[in-house]
Amino acid sequence: MICKTNTVATLFAAALIMTASVAVAADVVTVHYYNQAGIGSKALHEAIVMANRAFVAAHITVRWVNCHTEESAPSCSGETGPGVYEVSVIGAAPDGSGAKLPHFAMGHALVVPKSNSVYARIFLPRVAQYAEKVGVPVASVLGYAIAHEVGHLVLGTPEHANFGLMKAVWSRSEAHLLVSGRMDFDPHSVKILRNRLVGR
Ligand SMILES: [Zn+2]
Repeated sequence: MICKTNTVATLFAAALIMTASVAVAADVVTVHYYNQAGIGSKALHEAIVMANRAFVAAHITVRWVNCHTEESAPSCSGETGPGVYEVSVIGAAPDGSGAKLPHFAMGHALVVPKSNSVYARIFLPRVAQYAEKVGVPVASVLGYAIAHEVGHLVLGTPEHANFGLMKAVWSRSEAHLLVSGRMDFDPHSVKILRNRLVGR
């Protein structure tokens, strides 16, 4: 069920430090994801499945690596370099300091050229808030929020599309796509993503 207001949308922001692009060295994108929000493993798995769906639709292969946060979990710190990205799901929304993020932002991608350190964070409270507003499972919103931020990382830009997954603010139309599991990258974003992966 979709919220009847036209303000259901949300919300991403991305920051780009410098303007150089980040080269991607392999056909397969690797995403290390960290559960720092205490979300259940089942819900997190469902979210990753949803996120992966968007990349599969774009014919892009993503290797998702669950890095956990517990001591018993595998460390992902040894795997770095081009084509390796880090996404953390955190349990608190930003406090307004640091990057200038909209108060409704569900996530943030930070690209740091030259260091090959490319990170994104997902703010679980904002994800949950949006999920409640549009009446869909948190895992679904979380998955597409992760896909959106990974999209920024692979694209190497904070720019947004006019519609679809990479739209800055998800409106009612995107919410419908989210509910039906058909929230995909727009064709232009797919073209850029694939060019960055194939044209290396
Ligand atoms: Zn964004």
